[in-house]
Amino acid sequence: MGYSYDPENIFAKILRGDIPNDTVLETEHSLAFRDLYPQAPVHVLVIPKGPYVSYDHFAQEATEAEIVDFTRAIGKVCALEGVDSHGEGCRFISNAGSHGVQEVPHLHVHVLGGRPLGRMLPPA
Ligand code: AMP
Repeated sequence: MGYSYDPENIFAKILRGDIPNDTVLETEHSLAFRDLYPQAPVHVLVIPKGPYVSYDHFAQEATEAEIVDFTRAIGKVCALEGVDSHGEGCRFISNAGSHGVQEVPHLHVHVLGGRPLGRMLPPA
């Protein structure tokens, strides 16, 4: 069974302009906006404009132009927000599927920074 994209998910609505967002960056194939419930001083979500459920979906099926644009958008967000790893750094998180506890089924990379973020995962 393949990937199934739900066009009624909240990020699809943001992309259609049906609900507002606090945009940090927009490129040809990507959009970056602030998380509504920030968990760190910097908490930006970077999403592709295309209908991809998760990072694995995107990595398997996106065009090279989309992949380059999305990757560069993440880099630009780090520079814009001052969280590059030549400074104090940040964390990139992309939850996928049920084990990954993904809430919104449209690929997003969380860019988190502006404070020490602790270890990657809590103890099991
Ligand atoms: P995840 O659990 O990885 O799917 O993360 C979904 C993220 O989307 C959460 O951090 C939410 O706070 C965030 N979120 C949900 N709705 C919105 C919205 N309308 N604008 C910005 N961020 C949102």
